[in-house]
Amino acid sequence: MKNIIYQSEVVTMENLNNLFIEMTSKFCNQRCKHCYIDFPKYKKVEDFIDVDIIKNGLNDTVKNDIKCIYLTGAEPMTHPDFNVILRLCLKRCDVCICTNGSFINEKKARFLKKVADETTNEIIFKISIDHYEELKNDEIRYRGAFRHGLFALKYLSKYNFNPIITVTNYYNEPEEILCKNFLKVFENYGIETDKAHIHIIPWYDKNSIEMEKFDIHTGKVDCENGRILTSKGVYTCPFLAGDYRGRCGSSLNDYTKKCALETSFCQICLKSKKQIFGIDFKEFAIS
Ligand code: SF4
Repeated sequence: MKNIIYQSEVVTMENLNNLFIEMTSKFCNQRCKHCYIDFPKYKKVEDFIDVDIIKNGLNDTVKNDIKCIYLTGAEPMTHPDFNVILRLCLKRCDVCICTNGSFINEKKARFLKKVADETTNEIIFKISIDHYEELKNDEIRYRGAFRHGLFALKYLSKYNFNPIITVTNYYNEPEEILCKNFLKVFENYGIETDKAHIHIIPWYDKNSIEMEKFDIHTGKVDCENGRILTSKGVYTCPFLAGDYRGRCGSSLNDYTKKCALETSFCQICLKSKKQIFGIDFKEFAIS
């Protein structure tokens, strides 16, 4: 039998520019079909990160040129101390809230505007909606998700935010078709946005992706300039948060800058050739 040894590429992080904070690893009100998180089948796990871990993380990285802190999850807005954490992070730099949008109503959008006005740093939103047809979107997310997402976009626009719409291309449609149809829907709902604010990311089933033909690293991957802080320690990226293969250390004071691209998640990043989680500020005109 022929033995084939695959050697994975190793990426060394040069600068920590993107700090992801996993607000909860398993708590989400949507539990989408295509999510990379393996949710417990029956139990509701409320595993929120402690505010002190975040404070220590921010202290440990004072010398780093962090451009953006991303509040991620599962669903970050379920964290009981969400507002405190948001204000804390905004003292440092811009903060991106990566959310399904279901906790954003008019009152919340007004409050977030007030918080944004207290600081010179910016609050950026990444709102997940996966298809321009309500039924197709709700089929993979949950019933009502489409309307929740649109309401969030509408209220955020009303308070002068300009959210990024994150689209996981679950149905594998051409990007131009997705963009065109999303823009039509937004226009019908009176949501002002443009193509530059629609971030389409490919979807691959992590369980069936072919590992034998590992792609060459030619794009930009999140582990090149980011790390994620979780309640269990530091990991390479949101995909590998809590996974021993992505473990970098126990604190941001001392963690490894190297990471071997050897998981099926890495294969997804290599295929997509762009950052899945971080914002490429050159590509997106955030205003
Ligand atoms: S999943 Fe992507 S971002 Fe995470 S370690 Fe692998 S290549 Fe890097």
